[in-house]
Amino acid sequence: MPRPAPFRSWDTVARASRGSPGRRRGATPAVLGILVVVTAALTVVWFATAPTAAPHPPPPAAGLACAAEPGTPQRDVDPHDSPEHAWKHVPGEEVTVYFATAGLPQRFADMVATGARLWSVSPCIEAHAVESCPAGSNCTTVRVKERSKDRDTDGETSSDDQGGVRLSSRITLYTALLDKESDNGALATIVHEMGHALGLVHRMQPGTVMNATTDDHTDPTPDETDYENLRAIYG
Ligand SMILES: [Zn+2]
Repeated sequence: MPRPAPFRSWDTVARASRGSPGRRRGATPAVLGILVVVTAALTVVWFATAPTAAPHPPPPAAGLACAAEPGTPQRDVDPHDSPEHAWKHVPGEEVTVYFATAGLPQRFADMVATGARLWSVSPCIEAHAVESCPAGSNCTTVRVKERSKDRDTDGETSSDDQGGVRLSSRITLYTALLDKESDNGALATIVHEMGHALGLVHRMQPGTVMNATTDDHTDPTPDETDYENLRAIYG
């Protein structure tokens, strides 16, 4: 049997910064501003024929305490990717992040709920898929649009960060492409974007959900390195 041609999607490695012209992330207090990181998933070839796979069980070591030695570097990260920032947190304690899905098609709302369960395996993260975020909570809004301006993007994440702390985040899913992806490929895209919202950057290792390139065969389950990197951020 011929194998179906793989769906592949890319995130742009160089993410656009929006906000005040000329300002950069990591601004000093004198240069406060809302800084927006945009991650674009670029889709160049797609087929909807790939089989749907349930996410693999998370790695057994994923549930260890949210603890890391001070200065522990994240592993396998793309050194050229734009930095992400952490939500306000107490080191070692779980940080709760809500993903608001009001208005999403049920297919994607269900995938956000699956993604929240997968990321919540981390002892550092308590992710909840909800209709609307509670007032004052760490909130990522997930919305859909038909297509991006560049037409090759199936998802992107933009975040408001101030003083190195994430204040809010927004994931945009582009249905013109995601509707044609397998459930596995669409879930990988959504888990990937949720990873950015939680503060993760791209991984170098091909085939991992946080690699800039995913396809219909990417395992949407974060691996041990992803959970270790969350410990490095939040532990
Ligand atoms: Zn990405």
